[in-house]
Amino acid sequence: MTIGWHFDNTYSKLSNTFKENIKPTPVHDPELVILNEELASTLNLDFSKTDKKKLAEIFSGNSIPEETNTIAQAYAGHQFGHFTMLGDGRAVLLGEHLVNNDNRFDIQFKGSGRTSFSRGGDGRAALGPMLREYIISEAMHSLNIPTTRSLAVVKTGEKVVRENLLHGAILTRVASSHLRVGTFQYIAATQNIKNLNTLVDYTINRHYPEIKASNSKALDLLNLVMEKQCQLVINWMRVGFIHGVMNTDNMAISGETIDYGPCAFMDHYDPKTVFSSIDKFGRYSFSNQPPITKWNLARLAECLIPLIHKNEDTAVKIATETIDNFQNIYETKWLNMMRDKLGLFGENQNDLKLINELLNWMEINKADYTNTFCYLMNINTGDNKYKNLNFINWVKKWENRILINKGSKEKSISLMRKNNPIVIPRNHKVEEALDAANNNNLELINKLLVILKKPFNNQDNIMNYQSPSDNKDYQTFCGT
Ligand code: AMP
Ligand code: MG
Repeated sequence: MTIGWHFDNTYSKLSNTFKENIKPTPVHDPELVILNEELASTLNLDFSKTDKKKLAEIFSGNSIPEETNTIAQAYAGHQFGHFTMLGDGRAVLLGEHLVNNDNRFDIQFKGSGRTSFSRGGDGRAALGPMLREYIISEAMHSLNIPTTRSLAVVKTGEKVVRENLLHGAILTRVASSHLRVGTFQYIAATQNIKNLNTLVDYTINRHYPEIKASNSKALDLLNLVMEKQCQLVINWMRVGFIHGVMNTDNMAISGETIDYGPCAFMDHYDPKTVFSSIDKFGRYSFSNQPPITKWNLARLAECLIPLIHKNEDTAVKIATETIDNFQNIYETKWLNMMRDKLGLFGENQNDLKLINELLNWMEINKADYTNTFCYLMNINTGDNKYKNLNFINWVKKWENRILINKGSKEKSISLMRKNNPIVIPRNHKVEEALDAANNNNLELINKLLVILKKPFNNQDNIMNYQSPSDNKDYQTFCGT
């Protein structure tokens, strides 16, 4: 009976500054809640001959595969703007699993017990937030957005103390790595240039081998990470995703979405939308996500200063110029992304105006972000806002723009269908599924996962999954 693990651990071989060697803390009575068989198969893993009891042992960390070298990773972070030394306080990296010998994936348990980075925390996680991460990360993957993935969730058989007593749980997270902006901040804070060079080389080997031979590695790395994170936030803006806690420790160097805490999707279009209960000043609101990405990249740039140029003033000048490019890169990408959402081929000098007119109309009329684009693609979502005269006039302008350059509605709609989801994880549907799962009923979560797997397809009987939430004061919590 072989599952097919193929561990080849590189991060655990770095010096102890980077990590702590530690095992997951065994749990009392683990029980498998969900296993992502499709993801398992893309990882060349076969759990079909493993019984449920053994699966629970594996995904709780009670039984650890051979060739693992479990660690908690060190990192720092600006949390809501304040610098803190952090690290995996409730996660353990099982190891790096190789697929077809060259695709490397971190396999990490989240909720696996205390580490030396736990500070005051219990090292544990509750079932609701771990299933929430499972649902949303898998939905993001199906929306063609780079993200960490979720392989399994187990209940630990132990209670965790939050405001109430909750079921304890562990999520198995799969990521192209867990290197964060905060990893660089941690090493930079120790002021050890040798370690900083090690981290840069490690990152380049793992994610950006194309610049291995460069003689300006640190600067090239900064530019590549900026490109990736910029593209990521563009994708979030495309589907109305609000991450909710874009602290520098939650920004992956790979450009994957990581750390699904208080995230949620926007219903009606409002750039100021915030769901997280702790984001009192809207630092991580929908429209603040691009400038925050830039702010976070500036923190990465600061870490790299000693490696960018031996003269500090020159290095700062180069880094500042680099980060200042963010705005241009973002605006160009955003305009093209919105053109795709509206099925606009080529460029027209009035495109920006046309797009902004639609967004303004949506904001004033509290029109649903997802469903408005569905309406334009002739998909009925049951929404009746679109008889409005201003909207009808806008549609005429849009239709005229489509016809420029021998365009046609069909061609446009086919482009739009690739970019605009028909269904997203609606907050009320996610909550409903989590409530049921907390009461041992997995039917709703399984149904939701099936629907979210094909967000761009027409599916029967999903109107219920397309309607925005009635709860206008919906709030999310960090789930720690
Ligand atoms: P997060 O808000 O999930 O990004 O976590 C921020 C930091 O708090 C990270 O260092 C986490 O490892 C740590 N943390 C979150 N929850 C817990 C917990 N229950 N026990 C220990 N550390 C935690
Ligand atoms: Mg985090």
